Amino acid sequence: MKLIVLGSGTTVPHPKRSSAAYWLETAESKILLDCSATATPRMLAEGLPWYELDAIWVSHFHIDHCGGLTPFLGGVRHSAAMKKRTKLLKIFGPAGLRDLIKKISDVYDYKLFDQPFPLEIIEVEPLEEFEIVKDVSAVSMKTPHTDESLAIHLRDSSDTTIVYTADTGFTETLATFARGVDLLLIEASFPYDKPVQKHLELAEAMFIIRKAQPKHAVLTHLYPEWDNVDFEKAVAKFSPPCVVRQAEDGLRIEFGK
Ligand SMILES: [Zn+2]
Ligand SMILES: [Zn+2]
Repeated sequence: MKLIVLGSGTTVPHPKRSSAAYWLETAESKILLDCSATATPRMLAEGLPWYELDAIWVSHFHIDHCGGLTPFLGGVRHSAAMKKRTKLLKIFGPAGLRDLIKKISDVYDYKLFDQPFPLEIIEVEPLEEFEIVKDVSAVSMKTPHTDESLAIHLRDSSDTTIVYTADTGFTETLATFARGVDLLLIEASFPYDKPVQKHLELAEAMFIIRKAQPKHAVLTHLYPEWDNVDFEKAVAKFSPPCVVRQAEDGLRIEFGK
């Protein structure tokens, strides 16, 4: 699999970090993990074939994770590439996803469900196994962040695995969920002294990483509080069991088989 970090930041405007969006590519498919307002311009800036996306995953309804979804649906129908498209685009997320799109669609009768290409909106239940694209199976897990927030575990046909926690408070269950994955993409919103319970700080993310023993970990969803922190030094204090990298916009990682 190949992961490209489109947005390593949060909802707080930052000169170098766009808000949450990640491009995930397998041998046969292209998936967007979260769709912030900056997701589409970031895909364009990275030269990615956004018009070939097979699926979009929405982890929860905070605007830094889904704020770009309805503008994407409202805009791409006018592009030549999407007018010609016959391939299905599936959008997955928690219960309430369809209603969210409908509410924005109804503001100006945008008809967001009405596209020149086939579109399917799929609301998933936590712990239900589903096929997100034809070569990737998925399971989601409820996280302590918002009422609907979900982490996701993906496995492709070569048995390569990734967990994307999205936003989450601390729970040891995430370590079980991500046990032994090839890549753990985990939020570490704050380096220390987190001001809210619904996010992780570095010590908690590192605890989960030590328990989960992934082959590779990337810390993301980084608030500006990280700006003046020496990342390598901070991480080294927590005995990392694998390579732990700091996400940055444009980071590209190939992992697994
Ligand atoms: Zn967020
Ligand atoms: Zn959030």
